[in-house]
Amino acid sequence: MDVYSAAVAAFLVAALLFVLALAGLSRHESASLGNSFGILGMAVALLATITLAFDTGVDGLGAVLLVVAVVLGAGIGLRLAGTVEMTGMPELIALLHSFVGLAAVLVGWNGYLHVEAHPRGLEARVLDAAGLLGVHSAEVFIGVFIGAVTFTGSIVANLKLSARIKSAPLVLPGKNLLNLGALVVFAVLTVWFVVDPMLWQLVVVTLLALALGWHLVASIGGGDMPVVVSMLNSYSGWAAAASGFLLNNNLLIIVGALVGSSGAYLSYIMCAAMNRSFISVIAGGFGIEAGPSGEVEQGEHREIDAAATAELLADASSVVITPGYGMAVAQAQYPVADLTARLRAKGVDVRFGIHPVAGRLPGHMNVLLAEAKVPYDIVLEMDEINDDLADTDVVLVIGANDTVNPAASEDPSSPIAGMPVLEVWNARDVIVFKRSMAVGYAGVQNPLFFRDNTQMLFGDAKDKVEEIVRALS
Ligand code: NDP
Repeated sequence: MDVYSAAVAAFLVAALLFVLALAGLSRHESASLGNSFGILGMAVALLATITLAFDTGVDGLGAVLLVVAVVLGAGIGLRLAGTVEMTGMPELIALLHSFVGLAAVLVGWNGYLHVEAHPRGLEARVLDAAGLLGVHSAEVFIGVFIGAVTFTGSIVANLKLSARIKSAPLVLPGKNLLNLGALVVFAVLTVWFVVDPMLWQLVVVTLLALALGWHLVASIGGGDMPVVVSMLNSYSGWAAAASGFLLNNNLLIIVGALVGSSGAYLSYIMCAAMNRSFISVIAGGFGIEAGPSGEVEQGEHREIDAAATAELLADASSVVITPGYGMAVAQAQYPVADLTARLRAKGVDVRFGIHPVAGRLPGHMNVLLAEAKVPYDIVLEMDEINDDLADTDVVLVIGANDTVNPAASEDPSSPIAGMPVLEVWNARDVIVFKRSMAVGYAGVQNPLFFRDNTQMLFGDAKDKVEEIVRALS
């Protein structure tokens, strides 16, 4: 077998390993195995790509560049993965998506410079003879467009998630018309470029797509950011697939399609979980007007201390814990697991209620609780636990805010109106662990804090849970 055939076979093996990785990652129990399949797939793919590059005549300088790129990339990747906090994961993922977008733009431009820029060159003539020149031009144009949208969109998502820019939606006058106009210009230019490719068209589409990506994500409010992250994941997949067509690389096409479609499906599931229209979110918040910031307080709140909370818990027969982003920030999952074990040992029925977008990325809470060895069978989804909350003695809301906000179901003017939430206010007693009366990620005030059956336990969630554990023992 020659090197090319071996590399193609290796690509197929890698693609299969990526499918197995996705299948493994879909369940807690098999997630770690799934991860291993993914790592193996990536190793096979890298090895085959490098071997192929040398076989197709990479010269001395090319080889040096290749080695430098691999070492640099691996070094940065290892450092980032080693230092990133779990809470910083979504912004890191957004940043990685921006690299995929940028790579697709560069691959597209490279394709243009090799083919369309030299219509009498060998590559252009070969493609023309096969009747594929137009297809190549379309691939260049579409790849650059998707890549550039992904690039700037992901950068804005990174800035919003890391709180370096405000998470409130940007509302430009006629924003939907702007987006629509950009799409129409893109469609017209694509046809024109395929018929008569010129440099200025590619420059215009690159700038247009960069601006569109920025605008699309800037227009999306904080509450919808989870969908944006998975949507950009999907875009980065399609950008990679577009590059795969240009580079004639089956593996990139397969992997791009896997990432693109799984990201799109995840976005769809999350939209359903948040009662948002998929189209409206991917169209940059179409139909969602910026709501009031809701920073106004709504009455008096009551406070409780750790000792009184411990007494309440010791007397309870059923307890539900609804964690959120604050549990991750405080790294409170270990004392929470400890508290759970102690209460269960006393015969208290303790369960967890997990909102689909609790934290800053899907599954965030499940990962933390699994890390702290909380048994899977007491960790329930929002839909599985909501009906039981009315019969629950005590709910501990640990660092969650938007995901337990009654305004979502009771106030149609709220920016999170219609989003299903954990109906914790139906329980007999609700204790909210947070550090202040500050709003959550979506920037809306939470009427739960002012309910008669709610008491606030102020302070760092980890410290407070540890105090409760001490009081109980
Ligand atoms: P929120 O961001 O709504 O609330 C987190 C709460 O934790 C805050 O009220 C904060 O209050 C509190 N907190 C922060 N640090 C600590 C600490 N050390 N100790 C105690 N409390 C703390 O989180 P939720 O999980 O309820 O909701 C998730 C939000 O994030 C939703 O709006 C969702 O749409 C959005 N989102 C979700 C993504 C996903 O994929 N899951 C991705 C991006 C955004 P205080 O500052 O007063 O302590």
